[in-house]
Amino acid sequence: MSQPLPLPALHASHAGTWLRDANGGTRGCSKGEAVMAAADTPLLMMNAPLVANRLGYPDLSGLDLLELYAFIHPAKFCVPTPKGLAHALGLEEPADDAAVPLLLQQAAGALMETCESVDWAEREGAWSGLQSLARLRWPWAQVLAPHITQPERAEKWLFTRLPEWEETPERPQPQQVLIEEAEIEGQLARLTGEGAEQRDGQRMFSRGAGGVFAPRDRQRRPHVHLAQAGTGIGKTLGYLAPASLWAERSGGTVWVSTYTKNLQRQLRQESRRAWPAARADGSPPVVVRKGRENYLCLLNLGDALQGGFTGRPAVLAHLVARWAAYSQDGDMVGGDLPGWLGTLFRKRGIAALTDQRGECVYAGCPHYRKCFIERSARNAAQADLVIANHALVMVNAARGRDMASRPTRIVFDEGHHVFDAADSTFSAALTGAEAIELRRWIVGPERNSRGRRRGLAARLADVASYDEQGGEAVEAAVEAAQVLPSDGWLGRVAEGGPIGPLEELLGQVRATTYARDESGQEAGYGIETEASQLPGELVAAAGNAAQALSAIRSPLLKLAGRLEAIVEDAPDWLDGQGRARIEGARHSLAWRIDLLAAWEALLARLGGPADPEFVDWLAVDRNDAREFDVGLYRHWLDPMKPFAKVVLEPAHGVMLTSATLTDRDETGADWAHAIAKSGAPHLDLTPSTAQADSPFDYANRAEVLIVTDIRRGDIPALAGAYARLIEASDGGVLGLFTAIRRMRAVYGRIADRLARAGLPLYAQHVDPIDTGTLTDIFRDDPRASLLGTDALRDGVDVPGRSLRCVVMESVPWPRPTILHRARRAAAADQEGGGQRYDDRIIRARLAQAFGRLIRTRQDSGHFVVLSSAFPSRLLSAFPEGTPVVRVTLEEALQRVAKGVGTREDTPAENQAS
Ligand code: SF4
Repeated sequence: MSQPLPLPALHASHAGTWLRDANGGTRGCSKGEAVMAAADTPLLMMNAPLVANRLGYPDLSGLDLLELYAFIHPAKFCVPTPKGLAHALGLEEPADDAAVPLLLQQAAGALMETCESVDWAEREGAWSGLQSLARLRWPWAQVLAPHITQPERAEKWLFTRLPEWEETPERPQPQQVLIEEAEIEGQLARLTGEGAEQRDGQRMFSRGAGGVFAPRDRQRRPHVHLAQAGTGIGKTLGYLAPASLWAERSGGTVWVSTYTKNLQRQLRQESRRAWPAARADGSPPVVVRKGRENYLCLLNLGDALQGGFTGRPAVLAHLVARWAAYSQDGDMVGGDLPGWLGTLFRKRGIAALTDQRGECVYAGCPHYRKCFIERSARNAAQADLVIANHALVMVNAARGRDMASRPTRIVFDEGHHVFDAADSTFSAALTGAEAIELRRWIVGPERNSRGRRRGLAARLADVASYDEQGGEAVEAAVEAAQVLPSDGWLGRVAEGGPIGPLEELLGQVRATTYARDESGQEAGYGIETEASQLPGELVAAAGNAAQALSAIRSPLLKLAGRLEAIVEDAPDWLDGQGRARIEGARHSLAWRIDLLAAWEALLARLGGPADPEFVDWLAVDRNDAREFDVGLYRHWLDPMKPFAKVVLEPAHGVMLTSATLTDRDETGADWAHAIAKSGAPHLDLTPSTAQADSPFDYANRAEVLIVTDIRRGDIPALAGAYARLIEASDGGVLGLFTAIRRMRAVYGRIADRLARAGLPLYAQHVDPIDTGTLTDIFRDDPRASLLGTDALRDGVDVPGRSLRCVVMESVPWPRPTILHRARRAAAADQEGGGQRYDDRIIRARLAQAFGRLIRTRQDSGHFVVLSSAFPSRLLSAFPEGTPVVRVTLEEALQRVAKGVGTREDTPAENQAS
């Protein structure tokens, strides 16, 4: 057992505050005393921003154990709680809050000991990193210095340590192969393993999935298959069985697309049953592919380390450099970089280290051959299985760098989200924030900004010097882009002093939105108004702005033409790397040209007749009454129309699968609607369908309680109900809200009371912790409860006891936005009309939320809705046979306290049918 580090330690929770002296003796203290102590001397603490939040003193700092952990064990998972740290270091869990300060001393002691051990796996780079961190006055540097010895030979610096990727030849077209059903079943049996239970539902599902890999008979007529698979069917292995057979025989790539990072993680694990980690030549057959903004950009990191960042952000950059040397794939968002690291330093630091703005200089970058993004793109082009998300698959289908990188066999898992993903992918937004990004991409950084960001002229300097017309086009584009909004635009637009035609337009948009919105002005959140009957000034401003945008687009088009000519008639100096860089520039140029064209189309419509295919509106985005963006939006009324054209039509086989693909009303599963929503009818295709129901025993392992005596809008009663339900179930509650404000109000009223009972409560948008980490914390502690909004309804996968009760604050009605109103109106002449349209949305949300509760055969629990008016027609959202009872809060508390499986005393009033 290592010696505790003799430094004073502080712990603060909702239940109180504890201080421990350097050499022993823990005592409770007031918040004020803790703040004074922290100001006097650096204290050991865990998650300083969270402690600061608990003490109500934002400037608090100290020796944060999480920063130390990130330095010593970069890229290693740790739940950022005292208990999680104890697990990660093999220490005993603290029994209660008062025991935490001692644990902090023990953990610090254990970590110091690691640094002295010969077995420290992440030693390389630590000594050099520590020297830089000492210059930055990182509080841990002095404490660590005596424990880390200087290596005899100079350590390899990150940029020399990372391996280079290899150029590989283009993959040939996949062979046309036909896979028999018996082969699929054989493969499935192999993947599930000997002795695994034979599941008919899974076998049927797997055979159906095989159909999408059959050769296509006619151009633009892909196989489309829709498969609903209840939780527990084993759908992942179900589609990986035919996918792995097809990839092996055809030499092609299958894309599996997900909506949540959880499923990506699970897929990575499950794919190991079908593929080895590496092929004989060392290349990976399975690759997780994300948008480029997720990965570390080494050029940005290099700049940050060499003075681009100062103070705390510079400390973050050094910790990220430690991580990069040990990371599996450089993925900073949901990969092996701890999700909590960014929040210790405020989020912006992480974003600045990725390539958020598409400013990559490709082969012009000194780290190009080691770049994580380039490596991942190359690996994906050679992979048998690419795991991606819906948005990336759609973007790749629309504008993949080359035909070979466009997906042709696609399984959309979590298929119920494809509509929403298509909705945002194929939409256009001309807002101040988007326009200033375009300006920076063309013109370069503004005077007072730091970092390496460079404009088009600097990025294409060699082209400009070689090709006169190309040089002129760059100059013209930079000149024209001066009219785009610049720093400080929001203030100028709000105060009536806009500069240039775009700011002028945004000023008009803002004024009109304020003049017309009748819904959200009081609440302090976003406001919006439809783009119709617009004032003449706004229409005139839109005309001027469209002209200005067109004046930017034409030189960019000309430049794209020149780049194409250079690649086709390559000059002597254009080597392989130079060509790659120009290809990269062409690709990002094409994307900007499309963006400008979409903005111009949006503006051209203002003041004219409405296009029935689109919904256009004006909006001011606000958070707690603070404005952060202003602009115009255009969405497709049916985004599956462009989806069909861009994704389905060029593909050979596409499958959509989910536990909740169809709506279920009193008459059963509504396949007609699921088919209509798949996009297939836009190509006159009739998809094949399959359905495998969940094998779980919902009748005996779950119970829905509709609590009828909590009045809508009564926050004290709502908060009281949450607190008592959490107490009755002894934690393990996931609380779902439709409004952040109500969630904050409830949290504020009950967190202290629950903490005193040893029931920790966490909340999205309140605790300074990212959502993924909050879920990790919740999963790790069966007595913890978590409150959150939409992202938790789908993103939480917590099997076992940690989640035993889901509480929804009310019926999850759709928000009455302009877009919702337009789609509801479009559904009015269909069977069931607007009400059925809304019901489908609510039932889907209820089904997804309910789906959090029972993840395995052994799980059980309650699903509680605090709503006095819960229409019976929504009950079909729950799986067949699930008992539903309407009860008072008192009865609900008794049932929750007893647990599921003791209902004989009161027969259910309803069984979901
Ligand atoms: S190639 Fe691009 S993304 Fe990669 S490190 Fe260089 S600039 Fe960053």
